[in-house]
Amino acid sequence: MNIKAAPEVQRQTPVDDAIRPGSRTHGWIEVITGSMFSGKSEELIRRLRRAQIARQKVQIFKPVIDNRYGDSHITSHSAMRIESETVASSRELLEHVRHDTEVVGIDEGQFFDAELPAVVNTLADQGRRVIVAGLDQDYLGKPFEPMPQLLAIAEYITKTLAICVVCGDPANHTQRLVASSDRVLVGATGLYEARCRHCFDPHLAEVAKT
Ligand code: ADP
Ligand code: ZN
Repeated sequence: MNIKAAPEVQRQTPVDDAIRPGSRTHGWIEVITGSMFSGKSEELIRRLRRAQIARQKVQIFKPVIDNRYGDSHITSHSAMRIESETVASSRELLEHVRHDTEVVGIDEGQFFDAELPAVVNTLADQGRRVIVAGLDQDYLGKPFEPMPQLLAIAEYITKTLAICVVCGDPANHTQRLVASSDRVLVGATGLYEARCRHCFDPHLAEVAKT
């Protein structure tokens, strides 16, 4: 048999079960990061859903640039959905957080401006649990700001991996399949696929020179 077993994504959230609304005075930052199709949105939705079930006050945000699935939900590639608010900047996000919100979820962190780490820090300093999901690398394999800065200040980090569609190994890269040198090219199926270190080819997306 030649089937490679990809290690299961670690589902450790040391803080997940330790949250008691009302009894908390300190906040913290959790970051969920990895390639496209690695399950970041699923994991974000899972954590937020649990908090909602526990009747914690939750607010969920996504950046205005991500309009793929309509305006009022975060939707994973496996069709998990949760209601969200769309904001145009991290400053607007900060202004939208209500005074009694205990848990703040943020998807597509890589599409926010450079102020996001400061905003997230402020929210955690105010005693809130902040969970940010986002791509750690762009289509060239370069760190995707402001995610590296968020990783540096987070208390908890979960790295998610997809499965390489070429060879089946754990996939840490987002392979762009169409020629474009724009860092942001929104879409999923047909535009991108998950690939491992060996099968990833950043030059595949190069615009053909005539
Ligand atoms: P992300 O937010 O990291 O882009 P999602 O949470 O939206 O990921 O979607 C994860 C889901 O994507 C998986 O549960 C699976 O159904 C689907 N999927 C599609 N392609 C792959 C792949 N190559 N490896 C793993 N999951 C994949
Ligand atoms: Zn591979």
